[in-house]
Amino acid sequence: MKRIAMKIPKTVKIGAKTFSVSFNDPVSQDMSTDGYINYGQQKIVLRNHLLNKERQEQAFIHEITHAIDDSFCIKDSGEKLTESEVERLSSSFYQIVKENKIF
Ligand SMILES: [Zn+2]
Repeated sequence: MKRIAMKIPKTVKIGAKTFSVSFNDPVSQDMSTDGYINYGQQKIVLRNHLLNKERQEQAFIHEITHAIDDSFCIKDSGEKLTESEVERLSSSFYQIVKENKIF
């Protein structure tokens, strides 16, 4: 299958907030994750080391799903999405986008 490259932007506006997007190897963060989001500093960091492009894209979609939830409160109960809910939403969205060559 021909790969369509997803453009990971340097900044991403989600609701009222603009997050910076950078690639780094987190020092103090859990190294088992491929990225993290810091709402206060409005930044998304994707792990650079050992990541292929597709995993970076998946991590990007995962982190913006957290940001969408933070800005738009997906659950009616007001609770945050759980990690597994974020993972199911973001990975299914990613699969649909990729397999249908949407971008
Ligand atoms: Zn997460």
